[in-house]
Amino acid sequence: MKFLIVVPDGSADDPIDSLGGRTPLEAACLPCIDGLAQRGIIGTCRTVPAGISPGSDSANLSVMGYDPRLYLTGRSPLEAGALGIEMKDDDESFRVNFITLEPAASGVYADFSIKDHAAGDLTTEEAGELLEVISRAFATENIKFYLGTQYRECMIVSGRHAECEMTPPHDILDRRLGDYLPRGRDGRFFAAMNEKSYELLKDHPLNKAREARGLNPANGIWIWGQGTRPKLPDFGKKYNVRGSVISAVDLIKGIGMFAGLEIIEVEGATGSIHTNFEGKAAAAIAAYERGQDFVYLHLEGTDECSHQGSLEKKIRCAEYIDQRAVKPVVEYLQSCGDDFKILVVPDHRTPLALRTHTADPVPFVIYDSRNPLAPDSRRQFSERAAAASGLHFDDGYEMTDFFFERKV
Ligand SMILES: [Zn+2]
Repeated sequence: MKFLIVVPDGSADDPIDSLGGRTPLEAACLPCIDGLAQRGIIGTCRTVPAGISPGSDSANLSVMGYDPRLYLTGRSPLEAGALGIEMKDDDESFRVNFITLEPAASGVYADFSIKDHAAGDLTTEEAGELLEVISRAFATENIKFYLGTQYRECMIVSGRHAECEMTPPHDILDRRLGDYLPRGRDGRFFAAMNEKSYELLKDHPLNKAREARGLNPANGIWIWGQGTRPKLPDFGKKYNVRGSVISAVDLIKGIGMFAGLEIIEVEGATGSIHTNFEGKAAAAIAAYERGQDFVYLHLEGTDECSHQGSLEKKIRCAEYIDQRAVKPVVEYLQSCGDDFKILVVPDHRTPLALRTHTADPVPFVIYDSRNPLAPDSRRQFSERAAAASGLHFDDGYEMTDFFFERKV
């Protein structure tokens, strides 16, 4: 028996006027996933429990069968794990984003806003150069910086845990920064680093060159997502599978690593609409061929397009996922001679109207090759069709336990 979970990150959305009240999933042409839905079962799932912020950390933990109320210790430590950083129990990890700040006429930092939480698709190489500037200014015996992927870097603070509340930068695009600076006992310390980074980076030659090419400069950092090392029960033991995670995103790789799954690196996997869809599909097939029986295939592009507010790209990216990533794996599974089950589920919604995540239930599709239903065109991979099915799980781990037929 082979198992596949496909996560088109943030692909679920709300009805959109310019689509005649349809959602992007309803407007997209998804023959492969809709084909699975027509012969499978559909439903909705609440992947983000009440009181928990709808991040990709909580939502993907949930889809992997871990209750975020019990296991989420923060986003950054998951990423630190993926980067191979050994954290001690008294270490705290922070996400450091390179961002594009929009300066204010007043010249006062608190009046600035974040124009782009991803600094215009900064490359990892560029990030490395700029992180050296940040590290020279802020690193100490107890504060260390590590290069991540593209705009996503990591800072480890040793010795004591900070008391502060921080806000994800993609949640506050175009808003006045002064209302969202780090708060709490240690908030001012990190707020000062955020603020000083603008002076350090704004005139850096690399940023001047980016601006000359019409690209957003990485003219600031934003610190958030802190937490200590998580302790996840072993995924393979829980669901009786040997499996892998395929994702461009360090956070997702980190969850997989702490869950005891193998992490497969795919060349050209970027987490955007320009990712190597075919390469990810080939990596999944190769994992099955090596004798693994589970793949967690995560595709970030639909979420990234939502944060950018691009309806056209979000639809196109969902179609790429369907045709270039999912279809080859489904065709392989159909021809491999083994029974298989597929779960397609977005980790969370990322409505274009908000350009950030929400905790509303997401649609899911489960296809079981042992028991294909008579095709029914009303069964689709969409928010509305899934809600109309009447099948609902109030927690992500219930859906995942159901998918793996786990006897609790
Ligand atoms: Zn996500």
